[in-house]
Amino acid sequence: MKRIDVLVIGAGLLGCFTARNLTRYEMDVLVLEKECDVSRGISKANTGIIYTGYDNKPGTLKSKLCIQANEAFDALTRQLGVPFTRPGSLLIGFGPNADQVIRRKYLDGMRAGVRGIELLTGDRAKELEPGITDGITSAMYSRSTGTINPWELCIAAYENARDNGAQFRFDREVRAIRKEDGRFLVETDADQYSAAAVVNAAGLYADQVRELIRKPLVRLYPTAADYMVLDISEKGKINHIIFHEGENGKGLTLVPTVDGNLLAGPVNRAPEDGRLSASGFTVSSAGLAELKSLIRRIAPSVDPERQIRAFGSLRPNLYKVHEESGKIVREETRFKDFSLLEEDGFFSLIGIKTPGLTFSNELGRLAADKAAAFAGRTALRKSYNPCRNPIERTREMPESELAAKIQKDPGRGEIICGCMNVSRSEILQAVARGASDFEGVRRRTGAGMGRCQGSRCRKRIWDYCHERSF
Ligand SMILES: Cc1cc2nc3c(=O)[nH]c(=O)nc-3n(C[C@H](O)[C@H](O)[C@H](O)COP(=O)(O)OP(=O)(O)OC[C@H]3O[C@@H](n4cnc5c(N)ncnc54)[C@H](O)[C@@H]3O)c2cc1C
Repeated sequence: MKRIDVLVIGAGLLGCFTARNLTRYEMDVLVLEKECDVSRGISKANTGIIYTGYDNKPGTLKSKLCIQANEAFDALTRQLGVPFTRPGSLLIGFGPNADQVIRRKYLDGMRAGVRGIELLTGDRAKELEPGITDGITSAMYSRSTGTINPWELCIAAYENARDNGAQFRFDREVRAIRKEDGRFLVETDADQYSAAAVVNAAGLYADQVRELIRKPLVRLYPTAADYMVLDISEKGKINHIIFHEGENGKGLTLVPTVDGNLLAGPVNRAPEDGRLSASGFTVSSAGLAELKSLIRRIAPSVDPERQIRAFGSLRPNLYKVHEESGKIVREETRFKDFSLLEEDGFFSLIGIKTPGLTFSNELGRLAADKAAAFAGRTALRKSYNPCRNPIERTREMPESELAAKIQKDPGRGEIICGCMNVSRSEILQAVARGASDFEGVRRRTGAGMGRCQGSRCRKRIWDYCHERSF
């Protein structure tokens, strides 16, 4: 049985950033993931917004981490070589109820110390974003709101953690945990490990993983959300991130992504009864129809029929539970905050919803520091390097440089994905860095993300992954 200092369960954003931060210390770090790659849970399917913090209750850990993370995001993405933009956001309303919410959020933001927020008249908001329909009654501008491809950040954290010595094991589902002689014995479907401390970052399953070793206390009851991605032809029609505050709650969100597409969503679906919906990350046609109708009403300049992709996500809603006549009963009120449960060396990150992407590095650092202290490994690693080299993208290379690159590496000139201009060389690098299927290559290079959604390149990419017929 392999002995390690800290074992992390789950390789989403939180698991990967916890691992990255653990490698700042002299210790053995291992991450176990049940899927074949990183970023296969909530971390691949969210709105991709880097929030400024005005949406959180001032003074809470969530609020503090979010503000701190937003301010540190340029430096983080430079270190990790991940594209990041700050288009700024407009929170817009069309009536008295929405105006009240917008004002309250502004005041909360000011109280929390969020920088770069400003109340605007409807006319000013319309001037900034002419593609939105008439009749905006008030708005809040937030200069520092940003956007990123969340899976790219997750992959970067993974590669950086791995470069610094963390080990990752994929296709390993943690099935049993017990404590013996002060150490955690963790069993997967394939092997066993002994760890001084464990960080449970199992996302939608974090409650179930916790209950492998602790009594039920909190549980996750997910709700689903639908999204759609619009073709690059819609680029420039909306230039800020738009949050539409409807008269009865949140309405449409539009995000001009780092790739130049427009992302619309989420629209939420009714809560599921079960703890985890069997439908998983699927999309509902009712949700997409609602999204299209919202786009037509709020952003008539945008053509919702230009949809190239749709996806669904699941929100890990956190509830307290108690036992009654031997049955687990869920209490009425949903926690607004997340939970970092510290239980004698077993640390659980449970119910991490928005803005978990924004503060994934900060929350990962908090969990890592606590776990390292518990494991008694507080000496810092001198060789720790926070930087990672990304795969160079052919589509971002100036023509002048490209010719020289192709001379050195002919694969750079062989385009496999014509929609996104991805070369053979990039695909081979993705495979060498750990992509084991089409999805993994897609998320590392952008191949298959364009108009044809991989119908022309999927087969060749599949061959590179499986036959490794380079
Ligand atoms: C709809 C939606 C929109 C959001 N939008 C934003 C946003 O715009 N901005 C923002 O800041 N935040 C946003 N968030 C929050 C953010 O996406 C999450 O906080 C973050 O992705 C959570 O990452 P995670 O690592 O906890 O979970 P996951 O990414 O789900 O990772 C958990 C991993 O654990 C693995 N696992 C589970 N069980 C086991 C087991 N037994 N053994 C081994 N591995 C296991 C899973 O396979 C998975 O890979 C959004 C969240 C949702 C739901």
